This record gives sequence, structure tokens and C-alpha cells, in this order.
Amino acid sequence: MTTTGSDGGVPLLGCVADDFTGATDLANTLVKNGMRTVQLLGVPDAATPVPAADAVVVALKSRTIPVADAVAQSVAALDWLRVAGAGQFFFKYCSTFDSTEKGNIGPVAEAMMERLGSRFTIACPAFPENGRTIYKGHLFVGDLLLSDSSMRHHPLTPMSDGNLVRFLGRQTKGKVGLVPIATVASGAKAIQGAFGELQEDGFSIAIVDAVTDRDLAAIGEACAGLALVTGGSGVALGLPANFRGQGRLADGGGADALPAVAGAEAVISGSCSPATLAQVARFADHAPLFAIDPLALAEGRDLVGEALDWARGRLGKGPLLVSASAPAAKVAEVQKRLGVMEAGELVEKAMAAVAKGLVSAGVRRLVVAGGETAGAVVGALRIRGLRIGREIAPGVPCTVSLGEPPMALALKSGNFGDADFFMKAFRTMP
Ligand code: ADP
Repeated sequence: MTTTGSDGGVPLLGCVADDFTGATDLANTLVKNGMRTVQLLGVPDAATPVPAADAVVVALKSRTIPVADAVAQSVAALDWLRVAGAGQFFFKYCSTFDSTEKGNIGPVAEAMMERLGSRFTIACPAFPENGRTIYKGHLFVGDLLLSDSSMRHHPLTPMSDGNLVRFLGRQTKGKVGLVPIATVASGAKAIQGAFGELQEDGFSIAIVDAVTDRDLAAIGEACAGLALVTGGSGVALGLPANFRGQGRLADGGGADALPAVAGAEAVISGSCSPATLAQVARFADHAPLFAIDPLALAEGRDLVGEALDWARGRLGKGPLLVSASAPAAKVAEVQKRLGVMEAGELVEKAMAAVAKGLVSAGVRRLVVAGGETAGAVVGALRIRGLRIGREIAPGVPCTVSLGEPPMALALKSGNFGDADFFMKAFRTMP
């Protein structure tokens, strides 16, 4: 890891992401808009050198852990970023607002505000390029209201309310308001005016409507003076221009020229989203697939050992796939038998152990599908940081791990990417 040098300076933007694929998604947006970005995995400790980058994203796995733990980790990451010298902060969560009635989005946002002495922030998960738009405070996934989309069946955070003002309001102590699309369409000054009025009326967080990248750029501009911005990766696209306008960010930055990484190729899939199911089906047409059955795991079968034995003779002859991905009805059956969190953890642990075994056997080019799954895998591999390179699909960049041995990784949030994503990832990776 590089330490801050004369050309490195201190990071302008310090980010905390509630899962690993979300963190790479945010890093991807910042890179595309000209900020050199490094992602650190887990709360850095005092000995962690500050990377020479315009933005640092600390990736946590805090989306579905108990609220108090999510708050503690997020504040610890924020404190590290403040000591590192960042002047503005971003809390990144999923563009489908993955959370429950208890949190963790609201409590984490409020704890970060409190730490920063900030009285107002926004919550804007819009990501139009991936079909996530917000209109009159309601989040749409493609043409469907969030609560009518496949997110209502998510294994860990089923989303049953598309009204974000109401939904976030259940998670927060403070009042949640709305900046409507008509205001957003009028530009940054109008949006800032709305922030001021909302604060006067006692609101501390505003959902902000956004249906296009133009809206997000205006919202980003309006957020220049906020200590904390919260949202999906989309709203971060407007932030680099603020730093450029202040003369603090040079033109021409962005993606790292990543070193080439040679080695065997594998995909680990633990996402059960429709996009991932289509990718697994497409990939299995060309590549060998080993399926992980959670019920067999629960009965004590050594599927990790079986998967690794299966993989050993196949590695290096083309990419292979180990997958637990299953359609909603099957997931529901497994959850009924094992419990929701228990099933998730059991599968994540198995996928992480498979990944560790595959890397020991020579895999150096790895694609992981699923946010929680990616967190478990990267944790097991003890990867501490990632350099961010070119984009594979909206929201998913190529990355290369810091430390030895370097690995080429593509960490994909469940719903992202077309059906041929896995092949495309191997073609795009350095
Ligand atoms: P996404 O990015 O699509 O949300 P995640 O990896 O974050 O994917 O979440 C998927 C969760 O579902 C993980 O906890 C994973 O372990 C769990 N899971 C994967 N396959 C199954 C299955 N067949 N049955 C039950 N749970 C599963």
C-alpha cells in the first residue's frame, strides 16, 4: 500500500460503504468522474497507511448486522477517515435501499451526522443507469415500485415499502423530508434552497428525487457544503466536480492502470437475484458448475471439500463456477427450514471456505456475485485493500488487491450486470 506522499496529499472524500460490492460500485463512480480511489476492506486500524488517493472508500459488511455493531463500525471508519484528513464524507448503501425497519441506514446516518456535528444530510439511492429512480419519494426498480420488484423476495432484506420518506422515517430519530423532482430539475441553487427550508422546518434528512444523471449532478453540486452525503453510488457522480471547481482536484485522474494478473479463473456466486440467476445459467452453458445445496450443508455434508476436489482437476483449463444461487421459492424453503440469517451465514461461510481453497490451489482471477457473499469471501482471503480500474458493467469495476499475491477481483452486487457478465468480467480484468 502506498503511503501519502508529496503527490498524494490527503483524501478529499472519505467514504463508508455498508457492503463490499457497494463499495466497489461507489469507487467505480468516483474513478469514472476523475478521482483516484482506493478501497480498504474493514475498519482500518491506526497503523494502516493512508493511501495516496483523492478518495478512500472503507468497505464494511454492516448492512445486516445488529444496529449497534453497524453504528460502532461505521463511526470507527469515519474517525479513521477524519484522522486521514478527509474533509467531506459519504455513507454508501444499496440503490435498492436494502435495510429493515430497524436499520441500518437511518441509525448509521444519524450516528455519523452526530459525530460530524452535522444537522442535515440527504438520502438518495437513485442510480438511473441501473434503473433505480426516485419520484415523489418513491423508489423504482426499472418500471416497478421497489416493493413490487424482486427485492420483495430478498433473502436478508426483503423490501416491502417503496415510500422512502416513510420507510427511512421508521429508522430515524429525526424527521425525514423530501426534495421533490420539480425542485431538483430547477438545479443546484433550488435544491440548496430546499435544504435550507427543510432544516428550518425541523427536518434532518431529506430523500431527494432523481430520475436522470443530470438530476444527480445537480444534487451533487448542491451537496458541496454538506459534511455528510448519504446515498447510492449514483449521487456521488456529482461530487468530484465540486472539488475540481475548488481547484483541489486535477483533470485527468481516475482509473488506476492495473497490473496484469495471471492465474486460474473462478466464479463464486452466492447471490439469488434474478440478474445473477440468469448469469449463472448463461455461464453454465460453457463452464463447469458445482452447486452448493444449503440443506446438504446443514446436514453436515462436506460440500466445501467436495467442491475443492471437483475443482482441482479443472483449474487452469478455463473458468469454473461454484454457486449456491437459487430461485426465490427454493430460498424460501431453505430459510423456513434453517432460519433466514442462519441460512445466509451457513452459505456465506461455505462460499468463503471454497474461495480460500481455490486461491490456495492457484486461482488468482476471481469473480464474486453477491454483496454479502463478496464480503465473506474477501474477509476469508484477508484482502485489506483494492485498487480500482476499468468498468466491466455499470457499478462493477475491475480491481486488483493490495498486498501479496495480487489478485484480480470483480465483486458484483447481485442485481448488476447482463447475462454474459461473468465472461465479460474475465475478458475485461487485467
Ligand atoms: P445480493 O448481492 O444479491 O444481495 P448477497 O450475497 O448480498 O447477494 O445475499 C445473498 C444471501 O443469500 C447471502 O447471505 C447468501 O449466503 C444467501 N444464499 C445464497 N444462496 C442461498 C440459498 N440457496 N438458500 C438460502 N440462502 C442463500
